[in-house]
Amino acid sequence: MKLKKPKGKLPWKDRKVIKVKEPYRRRNPKGVDFYESTSWRAISVDYKARYPLCENCQRWGKLRLAYVTDHVIPIELGGSKYNERNFMALCDSRTGGKCHDRKRGLESKGKHVKAVQDENGYLVPANREDVFKLLGDCSPGGEK
Ligand SMILES: [Zn+2]
Repeated sequence: MKLKKPKGKLPWKDRKVIKVKEPYRRRNPKGVDFYESTSWRAISVDYKARYPLCENCQRWGKLRLAYVTDHVIPIELGGSKYNERNFMALCDSRTGGKCHDRKRGLESKGKHVKAVQDENGYLVPANREDVFKLLGDCSPGGEK
């Protein structure tokens, strides 16, 4: 079958946007704009270029690639979006680990590390070691 050239103007561009963006927006109505933004992606790529390994796995003596740049204190709880003191490179199933999934699980139960305000009034972890202790050695083979 031969495709006919559509008559008039069809919003092909808009249709593509709807197909790609809408389901994600529904799942994640709050965070979508920030985490999809070009500026955040560039920051995250830059951070992982400098910290390519999961920082928690590394703390427990394991070398595993990180997959996400996590905000240690979640943004919705006042965590700093741009202060690197609030960033942590973490693995997830896509790099063979569990650290980011474990952190999200703990967050959903209301477990967070102690936070302090940075110079701009946003929250950062008081001590990164608290994060490692909270997560523990959660990589495959490391569980107690
Ligand atoms: Zn890890």
